[in-house]
Amino acid sequence: MLLGGIEAGGTKMVLAVGDENGNIFEKATIPTDTPDVSVPKMIDFFKGKGIEALGIGCFGPVDLHRGSKTFGYITTTPKPKWGNFDFAGAFREALNIPVGFDLDVNAAMLGEVTWGAAQGCESAIYITIGTGVGVGVWVNGKLLHGLIHPEAGHMILNRHPEDPYPGHCPFHGNCLEGMAAGPAVEERWGKKGFDLADNPKVWEIESYYIAQAITNFIFCYSPEKVIVWGGVMHQEQMFPMIRAQVKEMLNGYLNAPIINDHIEDYIIAPGLGDEPGIKGALRLAWEELQA
Ligand code: ADP
Ligand code: ZN
Repeated sequence: MLLGGIEAGGTKMVLAVGDENGNIFEKATIPTDTPDVSVPKMIDFFKGKGIEALGIGCFGPVDLHRGSKTFGYITTTPKPKWGNFDFAGAFREALNIPVGFDLDVNAAMLGEVTWGAAQGCESAIYITIGTGVGVGVWVNGKLLHGLIHPEAGHMILNRHPEDPYPGHCPFHGNCLEGMAAGPAVEERWGKKGFDLADNPKVWEIESYYIAQAITNFIFCYSPEKVIVWGGVMHQEQMFPMIRAQVKEMLNGYLNAPIINDHIEDYIIAPGLGDEPGIKGALRLAWEELQA
């Protein structure tokens, strides 16, 4: 069965034709322009390919409430012309097929639960630390939506004792995104993250914030796996630092062997490499077809 997937981001759109087993047969990337420019290009990519359903993992905030008048819309983004845009509807109308729709990080979480490092988990979380911070939440075998959808990237954190940086988030200052996303690293140190690889203090402070958030997520969601990725996590030396700090912050409170004895199997990179989001979008398409 052929399915389509879109991983819709603020800078680029990843498009794929694949199947219900997560195989990808064709892939394309186009830059994110305004909808009147980008959407017709995306529709052209899928037209005539014989896909039976489409799945979209979209940057937020989005409306995920079936039955709402704006279900499948991007809601309040400052990105020019994307605010209040009927993303799912545009494709439903043009392609005349079922369209599954969720938040980008939820799609990535779904990809990892279906084919990646969180297979078989009842509860798990997927964190991406890039231009912003997003967190996809899987609880009791379902993606968590709730009131709107989790915005756990804005979890408020304690400052590192040696960090005077006020934070990059205009709403909260010292939230996870404000302290730890790529732009915060760049502003704090005056250089791109990529160029700071050999300064251990940078990654000690960075991993302190990520570990604090993960500790809180463990307490809140009781995940069986914690997957963390995104551009900033390409500094893979942070994995052991984060694991050690999470253990320190938990301080022995949880009686969980995977945390206490095998944390290297617990806080991990995705199993699907750079494709959890686009593969998750294929899964959203498949689920929509079953619904
Ligand atoms: P996006 O969040 O826009 O989808 P990414 O996940 O690639 O994209 O994140 C981009 C951010 O990650 C930028 O702020 C960039 O500076 C940072 N980044 C990318 N590669 C690295 C790296 N190797 N080391 C540190 N930071 C990086
Ligand atoms: Zn914030």
